[in-house]
Amino acid sequence: MKETDRARVVVVGAGFAGLHAVRRLAKARIRVLWVDGRNYHCFLPLLYQVATAGLEPQEIAYPARSILRRFPTAEFRLAHVVGGDPAARTLVTAAGERIGYDRLIIAAGGAAEDFGVAGARDSAFRLYDLEDARLLRNHMLRVLEEAEALEDPAARAALLTFVIVGGGPTGVEMAGALAEFRTHVVPRDYRKVTAEAVRIVLLEAGPELLPPFTPRLRERARRDLVGRRVDVRSGARVTRITPDAVELATGETISARTTVWAAGIRAAPVTADLGLATGKSGRVRVDPTLRVPGYPEVFAAGDVAIVDGAERLPQVAQVAIQQGEHAAANVLRGLRGEPCLPFQYRDKGSMATIGRSHAVAMIGRFQVTGRPAWFLWLAVHLVMLIGFRNRLVVLVNWAWSYLTYDFGLRAIVGTEPERTAGNARATDTDRRQTRVG
Ligand SMILES: Cc1cc2nc3c(=O)[nH]c(=O)nc-3n(C[C@H](O)[C@H](O)[C@H](O)COP(=O)(O)OP(=O)(O)OC[C@H]3O[C@@H](n4cnc5c(N)ncnc54)[C@H](O)[C@@H]3O)c2cc1C
Repeated sequence: MKETDRARVVVVGAGFAGLHAVRRLAKARIRVLWVDGRNYHCFLPLLYQVATAGLEPQEIAYPARSILRRFPTAEFRLAHVVGGDPAARTLVTAAGERIGYDRLIIAAGGAAEDFGVAGARDSAFRLYDLEDARLLRNHMLRVLEEAEALEDPAARAALLTFVIVGGGPTGVEMAGALAEFRTHVVPRDYRKVTAEAVRIVLLEAGPELLPPFTPRLRERARRDLVGRRVDVRSGARVTRITPDAVELATGETISARTTVWAAGIRAAPVTADLGLATGKSGRVRVDPTLRVPGYPEVFAAGDVAIVDGAERLPQVAQVAIQQGEHAAANVLRGLRGEPCLPFQYRDKGSMATIGRSHAVAMIGRFQVTGRPAWFLWLAVHLVMLIGFRNRLVVLVNWAWSYLTYDFGLRAIVGTEPERTAGNARATDTDRRQTRVG
């Protein structure tokens, strides 16, 4: 029997890298076990639209089992990997199950990096999965309800200040979407809360927003945000976050009941659990073929990996997609007895939207702004979404918002108590501990 017939490949992670790795292997009729702690692929680039009530959570999620319907050699396992022994080729799940493999692709993505800023973990909201987006949306809607019932202007001002930390694409897109919400939804839904009373502050520690973009596009994004009354501050380093305020290195304190942390990313904690060598932000070190040094049967791809010699590759969807496919292709080569090939990134461009009819895009030498960039952004995101039904629903939602200036339904769904300093959302580590214990 050939090795390609009996080998079992395990892929950890149902994000962009894992999805594309699994598809590639399954198309080659390799036995694949796809493992993820949640049962769906989540389209993270549209998470901020869920957080701002533009889209519903299920519109950007697609069940892993539906993706595998067409692939008889691939199976899915709902399990959270909490450890393993690469030397013995086994993984251990939170339920205590041991999963053996012949080849492993780690595609577990990332989690928020707090850079040691006090309170960033407990007092700020992050945006890394659907639960984060749901909690943030509920909190925002509750804060607006509370402000509507308040008479004291100072207390109302703090309630209505939304601070976003991090001027990368996530922070910029979140600020743009909140500004839209303020302009088009607040005046319609609320009687006492006015759009003018809602303050949005975007803080970036570096000198400029959107560091990967050209100076012209960075400046354009800044102008578009300022034009939408977002208070954009560069060189603004946050030193502490509490449930009621954000403190800056300059000594300034901004009273705010909502702080969104969009400042950085580190590798998913599973990298430490597996005891593999890690680099910057806990990412698994891989050689240029995406193989983990010392373990020729283990590969890593996407946000979780850092490639020797290509450390500056951005943690974006295209890198994850291409690395997932490449890791799978190298697994197939290895099974056929052929040498692995080095990964080469083909940059297809970058884009960020700043709300309705405003976006910046960089495609090769071309720089696009304004409405054309926005339509391009819409088209690219629709094409990348998984599932025809999701594409259709998102398209209808966007068309509806465009024509009516209205957002999605703004129901507060869920029973979690309102967030206070003492009961801030569970961190990734808390969730893992809950699962294990
Ligand atoms: C809010 C936000 C907006 C973004 N916007 C853009 C954008 O506009 N354009 C762009 O190109 N990129 C964007 N990105 C970045 C892009 O989404 C990531 O680079 C990409 O998702 C990385 O893919 P991945 O497969 O490596 O990881 P992920 O997509 O994060 O997937 C990782 C998967 O691993 C699973 N997992 C983690 N740990 C375990 C474990 N221990 N056991 C089992 N399963 C586990 C997770 O549940 C998850 O499903 C954005 C990211 C965020 C968070």
